[in-house]
Amino acid sequence: MNYGLLDSGKDPMGTAIYDYFTKGRAGRLRVFSPQFDEDEIPVETLFREYDEMPELEKKALEMAQGRILDVGAGSGCHSLVLQDMGKDVEAIDISPLSVKVMEESGLKTRLANLFDPSFIGGYDTILMLMNGSGIIGSVKNMESFFTRMKELLNPGGSILMDSSDLKYLFEDEDGSMLIDIAADYYGEIEFSMQYKQIKGEHFKWLYIDYETLNFYASQFGFKAELVYNGEHYEYLAKLTMIV
Ligand code: SAH
Repeated sequence: MNYGLLDSGKDPMGTAIYDYFTKGRAGRLRVFSPQFDEDEIPVETLFREYDEMPELEKKALEMAQGRILDVGAGSGCHSLVLQDMGKDVEAIDISPLSVKVMEESGLKTRLANLFDPSFIGGYDTILMLMNGSGIIGSVKNMESFFTRMKELLNPGGSILMDSSDLKYLFEDEDGSMLIDIAADYYGEIEFSMQYKQIKGEHFKWLYIDYETLNFYASQFGFKAELVYNGEHYEYLAKLTMIV
């Protein structure tokens, strides 16, 4: 698990967010993966407003309560909605440029890595959205992730996290699977990004099916609930710390 922060010279997404915020437009934010074809993240979607958000995210925002931590907040789009709702929210990110944008938007924000032990908790809701499970990186990090969540949550607190089951990508037309069960979990995807000439480091981003998440949650002291199940294998889970 990585405890560090991003270097602004190697932060394609943060630079794209900063450009869009300061100039009202941005170039292409390109996404590369050895497992997929090249893709792009439309930068304006990182600034989505409440009306543009999918149902799953609206549901998470409605459920978030108490002292809320928005983890990997990006442009701060979810925190802004929560703040408008009158909720108590703090946003963290490892991108100095994203945090700068959030500060200028008037959010309570900190440049911090979720896994840095010097970052202190006391939260009732930890929000992790836009395949929020990605930050866990791989299944082998599940124990340290849940241990860390116990440090950050108040008793009875919960995590609201979205993800999706990538199984459909490996399914044959007849429904049979091409998954090598001896290999790593099929939702561990390696990515890198590029914006203009700025290239980011490679990182692992975890997509996890609900059953597997539920298994690890119960193993490490959390009760999982499936609160929203979408049509494209995406879902929202609530993981409540068992006290
Ligand atoms: N939640 C936002 C942005 C998602 S992109 C949205 O829905 O639009 C993921 C974000 O997580 C990026 O901004 C990235 O810098 C941040 N991030 C990645 N690892 C992190 C970590 N360990 N701690 C805090 N933020 C992290």
